[in-house]
Amino acid sequence: MTFSERKCPICRKPRVAEHAPFCSKRCRDRDLLQWLDDGYALPGQPHDPEDFAGAPQNNPQDD
Ligand SMILES: [Zn+2]
Repeated sequence: MTFSERKCPICRKPRVAEHAPFCSKRCRDRDLLQWLDDGYALPGQPHDPEDFAGAPQNNPQDD
């Protein structure tokens, strides 16, 4: 995997080292939102709480 392309993958502007591989915090957040939009749920959070409505709640944080 190479990173020869030194442009922001979101807007194609030159990337900034502080926000690499993006050009700004805005684009970094936007990339994150794309991941979330792609079907990723927050860790530990059921996508639909109703799916777990019938599950026993005896050990809610049994890690
Ligand atoms: Zn950008």
